[in-house]
Amino acid sequence: MDETNEKISGENEELDSELDDSETEEANIYEYFEMGTKNKRPNFTKTLLNLYELTKVDEELAEIDEEKGDLPVRIENLKEKMAVIEKHLDEDKGKLKNFEAEEKALMKENKSLDDKTTKYDESKYKAKNNKEYDDITKQIDAMLEAIQKNEARIKELKGYQENLVKSILEMTRNFDELKAELKEDTTHLNSLNKQFEEEETELTEKRKVILDQLDEELMGLYERINGNMKGEAIAIVRKGNCSGCYNSIPPQREIEIRMAENIYTCQSCGRILIDEALITNIQ
Ligand SMILES: [Zn+2]
Repeated sequence: MDETNEKISGENEELDSELDDSETEEANIYEYFEMGTKNKRPNFTKTLLNLYELTKVDEELAEIDEEKGDLPVRIENLKEKMAVIEKHLDEDKGKLKNFEAEEKALMKENKSLDDKTTKYDESKYKAKNNKEYDDITKQIDAMLEAIQKNEARIKELKGYQENLVKSILEMTRNFDELKAELKEDTTHLNSLNKQFEEEETELTEKRKVILDQLDEELMGLYERINGNMKGEAIAIVRKGNCSGCYNSIPPQREIEIRMAENIYTCQSCGRILIDEALITNIQ
């Protein structure tokens, strides 16, 4: 194993930190020796070109995502909003039902109290003495008081119900608007999905073929960078600058990148760097 064998930085969580020149042994880099230069140093040209191909695929996938724009996010947001409204609607409908039931029970109670007072009122005149007459009068008063109390509560309940009906109406209108919006967005997204389906399948297939050629560490590194900068995980070193962030690359490092002796990431933006000459030689 050559002593210049490099660590590919799979464990390195900080993408913005530059890969160092540590001399970690890495068994899975044998294949790169075949691509070795005259002095038998490991050569990552093939790997870098693979990564470059991968970025082009991801760039196309990113463009498709761009076409779809914020539709997927909008759809998710709409669904969330609708779920919240639906929960409130259910709560309010439940409350309304309870208030209606309470009102109905009170009305029934008042009806029976009313009947009772009529009967008592008639019996009042059949009272045998003053005490009996007073007792009946007291009972009638108590019943009239109960009726009044119930009526006050019924009035209160009617107020609550009125407000609930208003809010249910308002929420239902809101819900229906969101539903229409969701339908429109979903139809739009479905048609875009259909339009790009073939292309996406093809790109995903192509992506898989390239990824299979990369070792796991490098794949992890790439996916992490690509996760943050879809389709822009690779930057080209052009005239001493990173094409991703335009920061300058130290001259010594630039030479190392050109020699493709290791996989280097940009110190400022974290993108994997490839020398412009490597790409132009191929094209
Ligand atoms: Zn950069």
